[in-house]
Amino acid sequence: MDIYYSGLCFVFGLVLGSFYNVVGLRIPQHTFLSSSRSVCPACNHTLKWYELIPVLSFLIQRGKCRQCQQSISYLYPTVELITGLSFLLSYLHLGITLDLWITFSLISLFSIILVTDLRFMIIPNKILLFFLPVFILFRICQPLEPWWSGITGAIAGYGIIALIIILSRGGMGAGDMKLFGLLGLLLGFPNILLAFFMAILIGLLSSSVILFKRGCKEKQEVAFGPAIVSGAIITFLFGDNLIGAYMNLFW
Ligand SMILES: [Zn+2]
Repeated sequence: MDIYYSGLCFVFGLVLGSFYNVVGLRIPQHTFLSSSRSVCPACNHTLKWYELIPVLSFLIQRGKCRQCQQSISYLYPTVELITGLSFLLSYLHLGITLDLWITFSLISLFSIILVTDLRFMIIPNKILLFFLPVFILFRICQPLEPWWSGITGAIAGYGIIALIIILSRGGMGAGDMKLFGLLGLLLGFPNILLAFFMAILIGLLSSSVILFKRGCKEKQEVAFGPAIVSGAIITFLFGDNLIGAYMNLFW
């Protein structure tokens, strides 16, 4: 049954990843609720069902629109694959537990923000407001110890980024601040501090890779949202082990 559920989680992630591409592109442009079908952004040709199969359509069409031969962004299959693979890996790590559903929701938040933050440099309030009740519900089903840890975590998360914004005069955005507050609610205190540390580490690593590839000619804004959510996912899955290992260094 393990193979069956593994395959199911992978496909579930691929299909949701494809949906998150649409959410991430449409929410910032306020066209999410329009019932229009997906079109090629270059020639406006309405995509048929067989052009919308996650990853496969991209591979079969060799990354080009069937109508106008315009290249399709690598971001689409990348988001689909990231969502599918991380759903699969988290199932293999956690089995079918509440923690798995919490991880699925974090991965979903990551995939959507990857699209909005890379494409538009924003983290839409609508996305955060959607995940707020979801995270609260998770914490009602599985309370933190002590229960108010989520509240202090949210205040700490919000506060840390607010401080960075004040000190760096805009090095991060209000979206990052709200996102980190939301994640603090789920992770609690002091785990949110570990998530912050991880996010900085991931952010520095990924931005140095990007700068290395593009060259450092011009000052570029870096989308920090995906790094923040990755830090939170690592903390949620391995935080207690990491904090334990760190403490062992000193005691
Ligand atoms: Zn086209």
